[in-house]
Amino acid sequence: MASHDGHPDAHRDAQRHEGHAHAAGPDPMTERVQKLEALLVEKGYVDPAAVEALIEAYETRIGPRNGAQVVAKAWSDPAYRQRLLDDATAAIAELGFGGRQGEHMVAVENGLTPDGGRVHNLVVCTLCSCYPWPVLGVPPTWYKSAAYRSRAVLDPRGILAEFGVALPDDTEIRVWDSTAEVRYLVVPERPAGTEGWPEERLAALVTRDAMIGTGLALPPEQAA
Ligand code: FE
Repeated sequence: MASHDGHPDAHRDAQRHEGHAHAAGPDPMTERVQKLEALLVEKGYVDPAAVEALIEAYETRIGPRNGAQVVAKAWSDPAYRQRLLDDATAAIAELGFGGRQGEHMVAVENGLTPDGGRVHNLVVCTLCSCYPWPVLGVPPTWYKSAAYRSRAVLDPRGILAEFGVALPDDTEIRVWDSTAEVRYLVVPERPAGTEGWPEERLAALVTRDAMIGTGLALPPEQAA
């Protein structure tokens, strides 16, 4: 089995996992980055607000644009959709996206199931913050929070309500726990009223949260 950190038991070996704080505090790289940032701010080389704005851009806009392209193509091209569901890593690589933290991708699709039910998928990393960087960029702070990591599993409907997502009672919610081996991309339902839209326009409806499962694709009237 492959591991994103080059050691197969990354999830059991939480202290070393992914470069963010567990019980023992920040790992050396995080600590170095924090010290470097503090120094740059202190010397007046960088403005903390500018750093925040940059991080925000990678979290919400630049990073997730790749995933949005994948989703828009899956909505538009049934053969691509099938390839994505069959082997997401390969289908995502077709669009030129791949690399670290995206080596073993699985796409999970919201909507109707073969037996006529309805499913909504929600992604979490219960241990830390495994996240599909090549398609979603850097994870938002809440994704890494202990509250989200535990409640996504214990009370997914409650979490969704807090994100403003109210699903019908008979919609099944499937929670996917990211691991060192597998990262998930949610394919949200295509909004009604977008028939015939080109992929680029569809992609503008696909938010980061929709691809984590804490949101839905935007309705057409909210297109950028
Ligand atoms: Fe993780």
